[in-house]
Amino acid sequence: MFSGGLDSTAMLVKLLAESADELRVHHIRMINKEKRDLAEQRAVEGILAYCRAHYRAFRYSESALDFSALEAIPIDYLAIAFVACQVAIDTPGCNRIAVATLATDTDIANRSARQRRVFEEIYACYRARKLGEPSVDWVYPVHDIPKAELAAGLPPALLDLTWSCRCPVEGLRPCMACKACRMRQSLRIPAAPAHNPVS
Ligand SMILES: [Zn+2]
Repeated sequence: MFSGGLDSTAMLVKLLAESADELRVHHIRMINKEKRDLAEQRAVEGILAYCRAHYRAFRYSESALDFSALEAIPIDYLAIAFVACQVAIDTPGCNRIAVATLATDTDIANRSARQRRVFEEIYACYRARKLGEPSVDWVYPVHDIPKAELAAGLPPALLDLTWSCRCPVEGLRPCMACKACRMRQSLRIPAAPAHNPVS
């Protein structure tokens, strides 16, 4: 599951460079009133092009969840559990789902457990129809790597393409105030993709 952020980009590079696994990379266009989808989509396209040119080929797909008419912001990890299930069923032989969850993320143990629980309930409905592999494991390839180390391990040109801001100004410029923006500042990572300079 690939968002276009720093963590999932580092995970993608790790899987491409260090494994021979057949990968299906999936991005969810999360559309809500924070309007981060445009900037995120641009990041995703740049990162995919970079990875295809510098690592190896992989299958890619995307889906979209449009909640822009709602006032509330849906919880990402629930959307990811739901979509990951559809993608697993859609991928012959799929027996693992990789997510870029970090040990340092807030409340992560509980959140990951809840995410898997949501997934298991939905997946069981497909298994009842004899679809999918008997079991699917969730794997966390970058879980124990500090964020600063993930950032340092990425080629600078690729790091610049990643997008973190949750609520960009006019949908395109990092707000510089949200938690994700402050994290980037603390790690001295450029706030905006190189092809999207702050004006
Ligand atoms: Zn921000």
